[in-house]
Formats: sequence, structure tokens, C-alpha cells
Amino acid sequence: MSMPTVRLKADAPGAGVRILAVVLLVLVVSGFGRTVAAQEMAGDLDPGIVKLVSAVSEERLGAILKQLERFETRSTLSSTTSTTRGIGAARQWILDEMKSYSPKLQVSFDTYQVVAQGRITREVELRNVMAVLPGRSPRRIYVSGHYDTVARPGGQGSANAAGPADPDARTVPPADPNAPLDNLAPGVNDDGSGTALTIELARVFGQSGIDFDATLVFMCHVGEEQGLVGARLHAQKAVAQKIPIEAVFNNDIVGNDRGGNGIIDGATIRVYSEGPEDSPSRELARFVQRWGGRYVPSHKVRPMARPDRFGRGGDHSAYNQLGFTAVGFRESRENFTRQHDVRDTYEGISLPYLAQNARVNAASAATLALAPPPPDVLSDRNQPMITRAPSGYDANLKWSAAPGAAAYRIFWREAWGPDWQHDVLVGNVTNIVLPNVQIDDYVFGVAAVDAAGHESFVTAYVTPPRTGTDVKTVSR
Ligand SMILES: [Zn+2]
Repeated sequence: MSMPTVRLKADAPGAGVRILAVVLLVLVVSGFGRTVAAQEMAGDLDPGIVKLVSAVSEERLGAILKQLERFETRSTLSSTTSTTRGIGAARQWILDEMKSYSPKLQVSFDTYQVVAQGRITREVELRNVMAVLPGRSPRRIYVSGHYDTVARPGGQGSANAAGPADPDARTVPPADPNAPLDNLAPGVNDDGSGTALTIELARVFGQSGIDFDATLVFMCHVGEEQGLVGARLHAQKAVAQKIPIEAVFNNDIVGNDRGGNGIIDGATIRVYSEGPEDSPSRELARFVQRWGGRYVPSHKVRPMARPDRFGRGGDHSAYNQLGFTAVGFRESRENFTRQHDVRDTYEGISLPYLAQNARVNAASAATLALAPPPPDVLSDRNQPMITRAPSGYDANLKWSAAPGAAAYRIFWREAWGPDWQHDVLVGNVTNIVLPNVQIDDYVFGVAAVDAAGHESFVTAYVTPPRTGTDVKTVSR
């Protein structure tokens, strides 16, 4: 199906206001995307998403964290037979809790039998706990944390400082490789916080009554502290079964606002994403900044252009490594002396801060799940569909229609710098010309927008890396 091309009568990329006015005129005259244009001018937020975000409960987050702490340890290799202590009791409680929220949630164990390898010191059955909220389409958006814990002598604080262990640290007996790892490891922030956020959002989304386009998955991973094992197993399954995972929000250590150095920051959250620049994961991080910031303006999203903190890891990387789009949320000021330590207790949590991080996740996941999928901008030959036609000096952008899209938003910025500088809303077309905009000077991207204004994350026009060919020389 061929779509009409929208030609913008603007001569310079700086003329954003003028371009917007022309586009809105085009939309109104042509009848394309009338609803979107009206909403754009009113600057509306979706009242359904506003209501969903406001349903996040500090009280419930606190109750979940206290219950997780009661299991004393949730070590991946701890008891599976006790009904009150260890990973077996914890996973059963998480399953039952999420099941209780709504009949719309399909809650199950995601189970694997794993042989001894790496930090898994014996054969063990691993169970992620997942709640699926089916959408109209099979494409999936994940909100996740890891419910397993670890505590080592000295914790992360001494690991970071590479000095003597903190004298205040209660000593933890070294693990016997032949015994279950049952030592005290409360893990209320690492990663009770991400787990509580995930469980609470399962409730909020399951009870929202909103009919989402995407299928939402609320995933509590296991085995993270043994090397992202639970996340890796699920990502492997997704590849093997061709499960269309569109985005993963991973939350790990998101509940503390007081740095170990005394600096307090309860008003920002870091979002890490792997490169290269304009990878889908980077676009997802920009999306969280854009939409999390709109629905939760009191909380600042700080995108970080790196996979994670130095020397640290998280479950989003297990998804990235298998080609999925995923980002990691991390609190802005960490207290390393509590991490991987018996002192990672409820006292180290700020519920108002954790709730703000939950709201940013909720707003971003809801917007994404209501929006169409991001458009594809690659040709059959795997090249970005961007040219200088028709004049040879224009920006001519093409994309494939996204199912459910009523309009598209074009973004661009100088080819130096991280943040989009210009955007225009166009109608239900798959081609646009920006006259006299030199494609070599800007990064371009396009997002799909539905009739109510829900926007996908951006797909950028990026040329795949070229390896070149070795030049042959004469051997003498
Ligand atoms: Zn963690």
C-alpha cells in the first residue's frame, strides 16, 4: 500500500515552531490524525494512565518488603522445603500474592533444572515467578526485578573499597559449597525493592481495567546473584520460542535514597542502557525520560549512556546479550555498605522514593503497552530508508506502517549530542520530506502514535556497521 508523502514547507531545521504549525495545518486540512493533533495542542495526558500511576501504594510496597525480609534469606541455593524461610517459601508467597490481585493475571513459575556451573554449586531447580496480563497483541513488555539475595562477609562496601571489612559488619559464616546457602541475607533493597515494585505493578495493572495492546509481563527473576541465571534462562527460552519481547524494564536496587557517603537524593532515578548510540535500548531509555517525566514530573529520569555501573551487572544485560531491548533502573545514590550484606534491611528503604520509581515504571510501561509497536525503518536490504531525494539536499524518510498507528512523530537532533532537539507530528503516512535538511548533519528517528496520542519508542535511522574488505597486495 502506498501512502501519500507529506512535504514540509520549511527551509531550516531550526524552524521547529513553523514546521509544527505547517504539520498541524496539514493534519487538519487532510483529516489525518485529527484526534492526535487536538491532543497535541491541548498537551493532554491520558487520564487512564494518570489514574493507574496514582494507584501505586507506598503502604503496599512496604508490606511486600516486610514480608520478603521475613524469609531471612532468598538465596538461590537456600531451602526449598521450609514454609517460612528461604527461596522456596519466598517464591510460593510471591506466586500466591500476585494470583490474589486479579483473575486477569496469569501467574506461574517459569521453571528450569540447572546443573552445577559457575556460582551454582549444585544441581538445582530454579523458578522465576511471572504474572502475565494478556493484551490484544502477543508483543510483550516486561517489568522486572530479582527476588534472590546474597550476603557475603563485608558485603559490597568492602568489595568496593578493597580495604579491610567494615568493623561494624556482623560476620557471616563462609558458605559451605556442599550445603545450601542458608546464611542470613535479607536483601530488602537488593533486590527486594525491584521485586516489590514488580509485584505492586502487577496489582496496579491487573486491577486497572485498561485494555492494553501489548501483553505485560511482571517478572521476578531468580539466580541474578549467580550471574543473571534466571534472566538468561528466560531470554534463551524467548529466543527459542520466538516470544516477541519488545522491551524489558529491569529494576535492581531502587529503594534507597541515602548514599553511603551521606548524600541524599530522593528525586532522581538512573536508567542504564547499552550502546551503541541510538540502539533500541538507548531509545527505550529516552522514552522513559520523555514519558516518565510527563506523568511523574516531580521525579527526574537520568539516562546513562552505558550498560550499567562499573563492575556491576543486572538482568537487563542478559536480555541485551540475546538481542532484546532492555534498560536497568538504579537508585541515584547507593549505600554499598548495606548491599550483599546482612544490613540490607527494611530500615534502609525510603518508601516515598521507591514509590516514585514505581510510578515512572508504571507510566512508561502503560504508555508503551497502549501505543503501537515502534516502526521499522530498514529496507529489505537491511539499510535505513533515508535519502536526500528529491532535490538531493532534502531529508527523505520512509518507514513501514506500524499496526494500529494513526500518526507518526519524527524526531531529529544534531549528529553530536544525546537528546532529541526537534520533533513534528505527521499523519498516517509512511514517508516525509524535510526540504533542505541535510541528512548527514542530523540523527533522525520515528515513533508510531495511536489515535489517542500514545507513542511508541523511537526507531532511529542508523546505518549498520561496515566491516570493509581487505585490500590485496602483491607478494614479492
Ligand atoms: Zn541485585
